[in-house]
Amino acid sequence: MNKKQFEKEVARRRTFGIISHPDAGKTTLTEKLLLYGGAIQEAGAVKNNKIKKGATSDFMEIERQRGISVATSVLAFEYRDIKINILDTPGHKDFAEDTFRTLTAVDSVIVVIDVAKGVEEQTEKLVEVCRMRNIPMIVFINKMDREGKDAFDLMDEIEQKLGLRVTPLSFPIGMGYDLKGIYNIHKQNINLFIGASSKEIHNTTAIDNLNDQLLDQLVGDKAAEILREEVELVTGIYPDFNREEYLAGDLQPVFFGSALHNFGVKELLDGFIEIAPAPRPKKAEERLVQPNEDEFSGFVFKIHANMDPKHRDRLAFIKIVSGVFERNKAYKHIRLNKNLKFSSPNAFFAERKEIVDESFPGDIVGLHDTGNFKIGDTLTSGEALHYKGIPSFSPEHFRYINNSDPMKSKQLAKGIDQLMDEGVAQLFTLELNGRKIIGTVGALQFEVIQYRLEHEYGASCSYENLNVYKACWIETKDVNSAEFKDFKRVKAKFLAHDKRDQLVFLADSSFSLQMTQQKYPSIKFHFVSEFE
Ligand code: GDP
Repeated sequence: MNKKQFEKEVARRRTFGIISHPDAGKTTLTEKLLLYGGAIQEAGAVKNNKIKKGATSDFMEIERQRGISVATSVLAFEYRDIKINILDTPGHKDFAEDTFRTLTAVDSVIVVIDVAKGVEEQTEKLVEVCRMRNIPMIVFINKMDREGKDAFDLMDEIEQKLGLRVTPLSFPIGMGYDLKGIYNIHKQNINLFIGASSKEIHNTTAIDNLNDQLLDQLVGDKAAEILREEVELVTGIYPDFNREEYLAGDLQPVFFGSALHNFGVKELLDGFIEIAPAPRPKKAEERLVQPNEDEFSGFVFKIHANMDPKHRDRLAFIKIVSGVFERNKAYKHIRLNKNLKFSSPNAFFAERKEIVDESFPGDIVGLHDTGNFKIGDTLTSGEALHYKGIPSFSPEHFRYINNSDPMKSKQLAKGIDQLMDEGVAQLFTLELNGRKIIGTVGALQFEVIQYRLEHEYGASCSYENLNVYKACWIETKDVNSAEFKDFKRVKAKFLAHDKRDQLVFLADSSFSLQMTQQKYPSIKFHFVSEFE
């Protein structure tokens, strides 16, 4: 492949995630997008990976299904000669960390908001992460076939609660029972809502001038009048769309529609492929890496265990940052300083996975792994690069983990080790006595770990409560200073090491954290494991 072909492959890729609070319509929207790409034949093909009751059994069922069809982690399809990769982001809050990590591998996102519920808790958290990283965002306001909030009020809410600067590219004509259609501000045409089945392709009618009587004929006098007023208001209030600002994360275009009725989805998809970015450059500790560079590089953002105990291998998901990834070629695993070859790299499509010979920047490949990879690992053609930006956040729940079967301590150690590599939870080892502490985002994970240790590693564990408010990663300029030595001596009981051997302070209350910070002003306490 020559350079020109390679650059064309890079330029036609769009890798993104859909984020939302559970139930806003992420799964339904994903499915409709896949229908347009011809990737699936009918609705209902995409499994909803939802944990309904917050029960462990739900989680296990999902994992079991996923083991069979890990394809749900990445969905690739082609649309109008664009290769689209959708990365799955769990909406359940107990898996928020998984979603944060996945967001390191996307080049843009679509935020789905339920028109009736407005901005919800998980939307706020996830959008904040995207905002911090200047990820370009498109907002899709869903369920317009239902009664919901007024469009202007909702955009106000989005600006205030999410700290975004929005501009609508389409505007609804009516809502709920009275939904007449959607006016595409950008393209100046109207898409009428017939409330039909999801397979119907809606006709669009071009309207060059909103004063045209055709509008009144199409939607009725009253709705036409309201639309004219509202569009005037829109142009008065909101900034013009500007792609540069969108790409810089400074402006977020808004689309309206109904995923369930496949209404407004095509407009969203067409808008998306027109404006969303191709693979973006990525920062390594050493330098900024451009996707068009000749040499291959990529990083692991997700590890998926095989839930079948007979096949212990795992799949490591690699986002390709630069160059071409080729089957059977030796690449360097930077952390282990070891060359590895992959004979069956997987690519993921809606209903299947396939072995691929070549993959390009923006693509995700799944590599079979017997324990070489950890989340955050970098793989390259040879250059020593370390990709940044997969931090751990302070867990919310902490418990001591104990071995309940002395005959199986090896299995337990191995199981804990591998589950932590997968990013299921975080392990801290107390400095004072070497006791092991598991920290998780949600309480559900403790049961999941116990279950998996037993079923995949034949080990059994028990937990013991522990009062920790937050884990803080410690930074000091001078480990030999009197202040740092005093801190280490006085707080010895609360000090631990994480898996990367970084020093962590386990504060037992917000008050004691404040007191400690005051007492030791030269020490920095971070709530995130990665800092500049
Ligand atoms: P997720 O949790 O964000 O993946 O949400 P789902 O896609 O599973 O949708 C949650 C519920 O909302 C399901 O019952 C969907 O049928 C319903 N839903 C999704 N989109 C729409 C829509 O546009 N209109 C209506 N009325 N319901 C919708």
